[in-house]
Amino acid sequence: MVEVHKVNGGGPTHEGNVYLIVDEVAALIDAGRDASAILHNVGEVIDPRDIEFIILTHCHHDHIAAVPALKAATGAKVLIGEGEVCDLGDDVATGSYRYGEDPAEFGIDGTLEEGDIIRLGEWSLSVIGTPGHSPGSISLYEPKARALFSGDTLFPHGNIGRTRRSEEAVRDLVRSIERLASLDVLVLYPGHMEPTDDEVNEQIMASLAFARSIH
Ligand SMILES: [Zn+2]
Repeated sequence: MVEVHKVNGGGPTHEGNVYLIVDEVAALIDAGRDASAILHNVGEVIDPRDIEFIILTHCHHDHIAAVPALKAATGAKVLIGEGEVCDLGDDVATGSYRYGEDPAEFGIDGTLEEGDIIRLGEWSLSVIGTPGHSPGSISLYEPKARALFSGDTLFPHGNIGRTRRSEEAVRDLVRSIERLASLDVLVLYPGHMEPTDDEVNEQIMASLAFARSIH
């Protein structure tokens, strides 16, 4: 039985959600900012050194700042969307300047693109390219569990990720949410706010309507 645990620290706005998936292989989705809280929470479930992958939905600081410390503590391989690699190390593109911090520096062990599948055992995560919130954002869908890890592309209750407000970014975001709206989703694990299993397809349709309204 696959387990998913939300393992990030408590800061509601300064840290993205971090999910621990425990399957035959364990993986983190995103890395947040507070490595010691994350490692503590992971340690309640498994030995952190059993984490095989740290999969990043996008390159924003609130989702990646803890990567160097988490990578050192776990030895996990870091994977990120192909389209995000060029923005790593940039304090504006990652938004690290908002925190008065330097961009996180770490090596990438692999890049992901649309159609890639990450096999964890019982679960296989399909990579869906969902640009808009950032140029190379990805979402991850698990078809058996109908679970969607949406990063900052969309959030519960009809919310959406902010964009750079260029027409192109908004158009990309609408298209990306259209893609996600075509899935059958039972459980949504968003990059911020709480996971939800309450009429998720309807919630995603509300996000799509909202994104179209700013188009
Ligand atoms: Zn973000």
